[in-house]
Amino acid sequence: MVIKSKKSTIDRFRVWRDALPLEHRYTGGIGGQRFFESLKKRGVLLASRCSKCGVSYLPPRGYCEKCFEATDDWVDVKEVGSLYSHTLSFETREGRSLKSPVVFGLVKFEGIEGGLIHRIEGVHPTELAFGMKLKPKIKPSNRRSGSITDILFFSPAETA
Ligand SMILES: [Zn+2]
Repeated sequence: MVIKSKKSTIDRFRVWRDALPLEHRYTGGIGGQRFFESLKKRGVLLASRCSKCGVSYLPPRGYCEKCFEATDDWVDVKEVGSLYSHTLSFETREGRSLKSPVVFGLVKFEGIEGGLIHRIEGVHPTELAFGMKLKPKIKPSNRRSGSITDILFFSPAETA
C-alpha cells in the first residue's frame, strides 16, 4: 500500500475512546500442566527438578537454567515457605479503590529456585517481614479447578 497523502494535523483523524473487553489464554506448558494437575488432584505444589545437577524450580521449568539439561524429575514442595518481598494494592484491577489494601507477596521455598506470587492474608501489613514463614491455604478438593486460584492465599504458618 502506498501512502499518497500526508496528514499535517491530527484534527482530521477520528478518535474513538472505549475499552475492549479482551481476555487471553495461554498454556502452562508441560511443567505448568503437571503443576496444576498436582494442585487440583493432591493439593500439593509441585516443582520440576534437574536430575543432572539437582536444582528444583517453582514454577516448574522444562529446562535447567544452571546446566541447560531438560528437567526430568518432580518434587513436592514443602508446605511452608518464606516471604521474600511484598507489595500492597489499594485498587482493584478495574481501578476502584479498596477499603483496605490487598497484600501480594513473593513466597520462596527452601531448596527451590523461583517462587510464587500470591495474596497474603492473616497478617497486618505493618507486621510483614522478610523471611516470615507462610503456608498456602488451598481450596477443598471438591472446589479445585486446576488453576492458581486453587490456592486461596498464603498466611502465617503456625510456629510450634
Ligand atoms: Zn541442571
